[in-house]
Amino acid sequence: MHHDGPLIIGGGLAGLSAALSAAPAPVIVVSPAPLLQAASSAWAQGGVAAALSKDDAPALHLKDTEAAGAGLVDHHAAEVLTDEGRATVEWLASLGAPFDRDAAGEFSVSLEAAHSMARVARVGGDGAGRAILSALVASVRAASHITVWEDARLRALIQDGTGRVRGAVIEHPGGRMVEVLAPAVVLATGGAGGLFGATTTPVALKGEGMALAWAAGAEILDPEFVQFHPTAIDVGVDPMPLATEALRGEGARLIDRDGRFLLGDADGADLKARDVVARAVHAARAAGRGAFLDARTAVGDHFPTEFPAVFAACMQAGLDPRVTPIPVAAAAHYHMGGIAADPDGRTSLEGLYAVGECAATGVHGANRLASNSLLEAAAFGRRTGREAARQAAVKGPVVVGAVVSDLPQAAHAELRAAMSADAGVVRDAIGLTRLIALIDRLEAAHGAPPALVAARLIAEAALARRESRGGHYRSDYPGTATTPVHTRLRRDILQTVAA
Ligand SMILES: Cc1cc2nc3c(=O)[nH]c(=O)nc-3n(C[C@H](O)[C@H](O)[C@H](O)COP(=O)(O)OP(=O)(O)OC[C@H]3O[C@@H](n4cnc5c(N)ncnc54)[C@H](O)[C@@H]3O)c2cc1C
Repeated sequence: MHHDGPLIIGGGLAGLSAALSAAPAPVIVVSPAPLLQAASSAWAQGGVAAALSKDDAPALHLKDTEAAGAGLVDHHAAEVLTDEGRATVEWLASLGAPFDRDAAGEFSVSLEAAHSMARVARVGGDGAGRAILSALVASVRAASHITVWEDARLRALIQDGTGRVRGAVIEHPGGRMVEVLAPAVVLATGGAGGLFGATTTPVALKGEGMALAWAAGAEILDPEFVQFHPTAIDVGVDPMPLATEALRGEGARLIDRDGRFLLGDADGADLKARDVVARAVHAARAAGRGAFLDARTAVGDHFPTEFPAVFAACMQAGLDPRVTPIPVAAAAHYHMGGIAADPDGRTSLEGLYAVGECAATGVHGANRLASNSLLEAAAFGRRTGREAARQAAVKGPVVVGAVVSDLPQAAHAELRAAMSADAGVVRDAIGLTRLIALIDRLEAAHGAPPALVAARLIAEAALARRESRGGHYRSDYPGTATTPVHTRLRRDILQTVAA
């Protein structure tokens, strides 16, 4: 079929922000599940980072973003992001996102790790993601220019002889494939946490957008940078419920089984950068000491009202966090790397746009600053929607890419376990080589489903980066190189390029 406007793949905050902002161009949004399901956006607990308080300024937010990103933040992209912070939060509020307010009606802000001041706008304590996405879903449902295809999935990209992306193959329920030709395809497919055995994201997020973009010839940037969250709740649930960082912002402490602090007893020790805290949790567990988040004193009886989602997750597992420390582990949480894109979503391929977690715009560098990703999804989502809507249809012959299928469940489970073990919080050449051998074996048996392609991109880039930086820690190369370099991958090419 021919469609006259952007074809947007993904119904999270990035995809829906793009869809709303593409008006009046007609938009199709493709989502594999009903909106609000199978999207990290709906699970976000902390909130949206922006310079909102009177002591704050976009330049200070930019400085913290660059410090967290460990030498690889793109200054221009991060400046655009932080400059648009307040306007983006106000736009979300204007759509009905019920941000917490102070007595004067200003946005209430809270402190999260590696921010030099309180700057995270929250909703109902830990309910930001669901509340914000619900507001967007209501606007999308009411928008006459948007058609939503639920229970539909991206299965291939369509290109012409020049490589320009001209559309996509979408699988509908029952296996019906529809070839859609459109002036612009926007990938907003989210992260890759579902490639890891221990993850806080929906398991359905497997880096499929990144894999199909790579197969089409698009440039992939720094895929080795995965952020592991230090406080995934370890109660045998897959994916793992999250204990938001805001709990540590309120004074909850990380301890071992004997009550010893994992990161020392200094104030703020537990609010160090996420990679540092994740490694401390990982090390304590590996040493058999266990790792626990103790919120008994700092939050105590306020738990049900201040952190209702975390409280409910704990109680469901039979654990009352008011009286018992919460067992925690580090788990894959956010993908900094992805499809190379600019703040307007442009990728290296004409006609193809990428935004949100599947994109790598350089704003997170090697390590995302907490709560910058919802801001990116909404701010760059709006920019990308406007840019994609400006594209005019192109005529001429097209080539439909190979239609992909899924990795069988047992093989996917094997892949997930290996990714957490060998491309997880602590990596080395032996483990990564073992992981790549497994991917080779699975590929020989099952072809190249997107999950395997995405896993290979992460593993190969992690093996090639012989240093430790941000979310990527190599126990065989624990030092950080003096000159930061990016990893850039295209089909059959892996290059390192000065930042
Ligand atoms: C538990 C948790 C808490 C978080 N807390 C915060 C926070 O407080 N602040 C913050 O800034 N960030 C937070 N994050 C990160 C943030 O939620 C995400 O980075 C952000 O929501 C990503 O938005 P997105 O639209 O790019 O992706 P998503 O919201 O994940 O949406 C991706 C969409 O693409 C769809 N999709 C995937 N594959 C396909 C396919 N093949 N075909 C069609 N559609 C597909 C998915 O189903 C989904 O609809 C948190 C993440 C998690 C998991």
